[in-house]
Amino acid sequence: MKRFLLPLLLLATAFCSAQEAEVKSPDGQLVVRVGTDNGLAYYTVMLNGQTVLHRSRLGFTADYGDFSQGLTLRDWKADAEDYDYVMTRTKASGAGVKAGVLTATFQNARQQPMQVEFKVKNRDVAFRYHLSPVSEGRPKSAVILSEASSFCLPEGTTTFLSPQSDPMIGWERTKPSYEEVYRADRPMTERSQYGHGYVFPALFSLPPAPSQGGEVWVLISETGVNGNYVGAHLSDYNPSSLREEAGSYQIAFPMPGENNGIGTTTAGVPLPCTTPWRTITVGTLADIVMTTISFDLVEPQYEASQQYRPGRYVWSWLIGQDESINYDDQVRFIDLAAAMGFEYCLVDNWWDQRIGRDRIEELSRYAQQKGVSLMLWYNSNGYENDAPQTPRQCMNTPQARDAEMAWLQRIGVKGIKVDFFGGDKQPTMQLYEDILYDANRYGLQVIFHGCTLPRGWERMYPNFVASEAVLASENVMFDEGAAKREPFDLTLHPFCRNATASMDWGGIIMNRYMATDNKSRHRRHTTDIFELASGITMQTSIQCVAMQPNNLGELPQFELDFLRQLPTTWDETHFIDGYPGRYVVLARRHGTQWYVAGLNAEPNTKKLTLQLPMLAGQTVSYYTDNRNGEPQLSTLKVDKQGRAKVEMQPNGGIILK
Ligand code: CA
Repeated sequence: MKRFLLPLLLLATAFCSAQEAEVKSPDGQLVVRVGTDNGLAYYTVMLNGQTVLHRSRLGFTADYGDFSQGLTLRDWKADAEDYDYVMTRTKASGAGVKAGVLTATFQNARQQPMQVEFKVKNRDVAFRYHLSPVSEGRPKSAVILSEASSFCLPEGTTTFLSPQSDPMIGWERTKPSYEEVYRADRPMTERSQYGHGYVFPALFSLPPAPSQGGEVWVLISETGVNGNYVGAHLSDYNPSSLREEAGSYQIAFPMPGENNGIGTTTAGVPLPCTTPWRTITVGTLADIVMTTISFDLVEPQYEASQQYRPGRYVWSWLIGQDESINYDDQVRFIDLAAAMGFEYCLVDNWWDQRIGRDRIEELSRYAQQKGVSLMLWYNSNGYENDAPQTPRQCMNTPQARDAEMAWLQRIGVKGIKVDFFGGDKQPTMQLYEDILYDANRYGLQVIFHGCTLPRGWERMYPNFVASEAVLASENVMFDEGAAKREPFDLTLHPFCRNATASMDWGGIIMNRYMATDNKSRHRRHTTDIFELASGITMQTSIQCVAMQPNNLGELPQFELDFLRQLPTTWDETHFIDGYPGRYVVLARRHGTQWYVAGLNAEPNTKKLTLQLPMLAGQTVSYYTDNRNGEPQLSTLKVDKQGRAKVEMQPNGGIILK
């Protein structure tokens, strides 16, 4: 990694008037201005002269001072950054930060300072607050009561949002867990389902501006959240704001009822400190899909204790549910993983009771002989909810984790899945970090379920794999409504949930029916090629392939061959075509091999001419569905200009490789 700060800001990128400071992206197209208006601190964002955010508020209230009003802009300094870094487990193997930097210092009526730091990349804006002791070095600790930070989008903007749920509802009172339905193409004025606003990430489409070129999309999220702060979300749309003609969403802290009401909604911080980054990606859908802003501004929190292995896991529980958690079925799944060349087999809840610890040791030995490693499920535990599944009380204290993880390491288990967390209050954010830190000491990779959105964690924690934080595959199993919605969900997430962070959707599903006999209950509503392609469009460093042992004898050889060589780490990701919730085509590169994958959620055949410069002049393997939704493998010639004509069937997909 090379990292340097340019000592002097190029004057061209920092312009200051009496009341406003300005910072531009290196290409000059994205412009942020910061100032005050009647004592309220604000920022604005413009792309190529088009307003992306009207005056949106900056500030917070703390126990030691009110920084939400009575503010004046005291001074500012501008800078620039240019550095590259390496990633191993996200959408790209390398990324960089070339950004204009602005640090603005405001003061409140009591002359207490508040610093806001902005970084402006060509298509991303991020900002955070720097808090410092105010006078005579005191206070040295503070409570942040609320943030005034807001996002004031132009009138007519449409939304792609998932509501924040009521606390302590759902399965055994385990919500909120980022498992609500995203709604697409909705007006901002529509009230959220529960009246608690929306979870990150939040996707918006600006109304067309006739004088400007092209559509503008905005993805809002946050990154760098750990045990030093709370996880935030967006408030409901508030029609009144600094500007009369537009309203805004505001940063909202956790709800009092989360974690069974235990713990505050506020953040406790030592001074000096910095808050997490609020991130705003602006541009085309390609800019949204390809952004690395979640990872750009965070730092690894500890060294990896070893080189962690990406890969694929089989998972009996999706179709087999609790009944499949027995020794013999798990042997069959280990054999399946071995036959497919997969690295891992995840044994889900109740294994301590239904298989037992002694026989799990035996099972782990058996798996290792077959070249497969076990991953085991845990309940996060404690006071937060009523989830009854065991093992419990193994992950909620350092002593319990030490004992458990030492045992896991001794018997050769390589990963854990920890489920059912309490919410976004600060102690829960600390629990995620504690589990990850301890797991690294014992060589364990970690998947979280029933949990919050990971915020930069792929880079912060080298043994973090992915989180659920999505209305995931289990719902496709539970009810046919979700099975019918799967194409919508999986064509939305590349632009939103999965653009921000790795996602454990929980399975490329290969059974035709959601039952172990593969003929009862409801059917899967996607084609085989849709599912195979979703293995490329969904990003996580250990991908779940939720196939069943019976699929080995049922699927065409070319489907099995495809799954056997499915990569899960990517050097590059490119957006090719799509619209959130309707269809998506992405190209990802693993080593020298490109994979182009498309999914269609629309009711009609989608005929596209793709622009694939990376495959120009090549003849590639072409996986697609026929009109009956049956899988086909053929070849396709990409012309010298990189054009390829393809067809995606309804609920179908394509792969070119
Ligand atoms: Ca879940």
